[in-house]
Amino acid sequence: LPKIAFEGVTKLYESPSGRTEPTLALAELDLRIAPEEIVSIVGPTGCGKSTALNLLAGFEQASGGVVRIDGEPVTSPGPNRGIVFQQPSLFPWMNVLENVVLGARCRGVRRDDYEPRAFNLLEEVGLKGFERHYPYQLSGGMQQRVQIARALLNQPDILLMDEPFGALDYQTRLLMQKLLLRLWQHFRPTILFITHDVGEAVFLSDRVIAMSRRPGRVKREVRVAAPKPRD
Ligand code: ADP
Ligand code: ADP
Repeated sequence: LPKIAFEGVTKLYESPSGRTEPTLALAELDLRIAPEEIVSIVGPTGCGKSTALNLLAGFEQASGGVVRIDGEPVTSPGPNRGIVFQQPSLFPWMNVLENVVLGARCRGVRRDDYEPRAFNLLEEVGLKGFERHYPYQLSGGMQQRVQIARALLNQPDILLMDEPFGALDYQTRLLMQKLLLRLWQHFRPTILFITHDVGEAVFLSDRVIAMSRRPGRVKREVRVAAPKPRD
């Protein structure tokens, strides 16, 4: 059973006024992703990459077809999906630890359950000792690491990443890519990774899906042959 399945998924965005044509963002997308697989989607701006991710996140509903996780249609966001965006979305008035545990706290998870996990994760992403720092005291790469720790806190089996390293400088991006592979070795999530950077896609993933400029269509699919630094 695939972990993730897009089955003939079409997404139309109606224009708010209804006066112009709807935008076709995805056209009958078929994509299956196995458990623990890392799949990247590359392609030009506007080809529907974020739409695919948002459907999987449960933020948007498909206009046609069905998106499944473990065989079940996705209807809403859920704690089994950790999400990382390009722009760190940390609350500036909360310290690193508070930002990481916020979601768990909102769901009513017990503190002595989530807090040790938060400390472990922050250590794992190289932020031991920064738990009481505030976002403005951190570099962009460190803020992204906080986001990743937050995304992993609930032990999700799926990690959705939308250009997570796109705003970082080249050196930092390389370090983050290695960090992500290390985290994968540890937690083995299924990862859907969106990027503009074909090199990054090839380095990180088992499979690269290149979307066409024609909206929402897969242009080609490349299985990455080079072995990743995995055990
Ligand atoms: P990508 O992530 O590849 O840049 P998107 O999925 O963001 O592509 O967008 C695909 C198409 O859908 C684009 O034409 C975009 O303008 C349109 N689109 C995306 N989100 C919305 C929205 N919320 N409302 C209307 N149109 C949207
Ligand atoms: P189209 O011909 O549909 O307009 P392009 O040739 O401009 O599309 O390529 C679309 C996107 O697909 C590019 O932005 C690029 O990121 C990606 N792409 C193209 N060829 C490859 C490839 N061999 N491997 C990975 N990604 C590719």
